[in-house]
Amino acid sequence: MEWIEEHVNEIERYMAQGFSFTVSKDLVRIHHTAKARCLRCGDSMKKATNGVSYFCTNRKECRTAQRKLKWQMYHHRVPRERALKIVLDSLDRTYRQEGPIGENNRTTSIMQ
Ligand SMILES: [Zn+2]
Repeated sequence: MEWIEEHVNEIERYMAQGFSFTVSKDLVRIHHTAKARCLRCGDSMKKATNGVSYFCTNRKECRTAQRKLKWQMYHHRVPRERALKIVLDSLDRTYRQEGPIGENNRTTSIMQ
C-alpha cells in the first residue's frame, strides 16, 4: 500500500486519461522500478532503457502489442500515453476498459 500512496498522483494522472487503476499502477511501476511487468501478460521483464517497452518479447501477442505501440508513436506521432491506451484497448482481456471504447478504428479520430 505504501508504494501506491507514494505514487498516487501519478496513478491518478493516468486514470484521468482513461486507464484503469490496474493499468495506471503498472504504468507508474514501469517508470519507477527496476523490474517492470508486461502490460499484457504480466511477465516480468527488464526495465526499458528507452522508455517505450511496455510489453515482453516472450509471446507473439506481446510483441505485436509492442509493435502496435511503436507504430502509433512513431508513425502516427501519437503521444505515448495515448498510444498505450489505444493498444491496451485493442487487447481482448482484463486490461480493456469498460464502456464503448476499444474499436481499432478509433485510431483515426484520435490522431487529430
Ligand atoms: Zn507479455
